Amino acid sequence: MNTTPHVVFIAGCNRSGTTLLEILLERELAGVAVGEVWTLWKRFVPGRSRCGCGSALLDCRFWSEVNERYGGFERDLEAGGHLRDGVLRLRRLPGLLAFPAIRRERRVEIRMAGSMLRRLYRAVSEVRPDRPVIDSSKFGSYAILLCRTGGVDVDIVHLVRDPRAVAHSMSRLRRRRDAADPSSTMQIMGPARAGVSWLVWNVLVLLARRYARSYTRVRYEDLVASPVSVLAAVRLRTDARRAPAKPPHAGSPADRHGLGGNPMRDYDRPLVITADDEWEVSMSRWHRWIVLVITLPLAIRFGYVGRRGSRSGIHLSRQEPER
Ligand SMILES: [Zn+2]
Repeated sequence: MNTTPHVVFIAGCNRSGTTLLEILLERELAGVAVGEVWTLWKRFVPGRSRCGCGSALLDCRFWSEVNERYGGFERDLEAGGHLRDGVLRLRRLPGLLAFPAIRRERRVEIRMAGSMLRRLYRAVSEVRPDRPVIDSSKFGSYAILLCRTGGVDVDIVHLVRDPRAVAHSMSRLRRRRDAADPSSTMQIMGPARAGVSWLVWNVLVLLARRYARSYTRVRYEDLVASPVSVLAAVRLRTDARRAPAKPPHAGSPADRHGLGGNPMRDYDRPLVITADDEWEVSMSRWHRWIVLVITLPLAIRFGYVGRRGSRSGIHLSRQEPER
């Protein structure tokens, strides 16, 4: 019996629909969705954050059980903070890519971070056995770290969305419902900064793909237009044979424990899938032009510019991982 934790990693840029995909994959693969779990250590402080089930994070039964099996997140709060603000910084990316052929102290740092992650996913898999972990941490550098340090089977699902739609969404004020402070809002960006952000985050995922067990690229626009066929394709690629042979669980709000992300995660009624295409009527031509100029190479590659725009956005590859 294979006891290696199985992670379906949803990667991509903020505001690309990753929370929607997380909810759909949790049902399709009968998985356990943990949300943006790479921020866990930062959140595991009294009064800092709420879980997707509505409880304060420290009061949530699911995370309390995971914490117990992990051996106590409290002892790794500093290392968890360093994971986010040190190990995964963009300027450290060359070290991650060259691992293990790097300076000894950097190698030790990366191995320690990898050890924390292995313990975390193992603990989640013990609390919810036989279910793939649906992780929507999104960040490509984190995916690279997870794949390169070993001990976890990682299938990447890369969700891409038209960069103009993402930039428009980033220009709007949105509440952070996972924050303890109800007035807390998500970061707002202008079109140029949003375009750069879209480009960098997606390039990082393309770098991560070579280290994962499989890579599936899905366009948000195809997901909302044909969710059944897109999810079936993802299921085929993510080794869902390991998922239990029982109907996908309904994912009731009380049993959903994702961290962070879009307010949609807290839904308490049947999920209705509709395309968010407000940008097509509300975004100025000037802002669209700025975003497209910055993101052009990948916007073409993903089919958002030119004739390729009409093609299906499901791109598949399967490979032996590099460690
Ligand atoms: Zn919870």
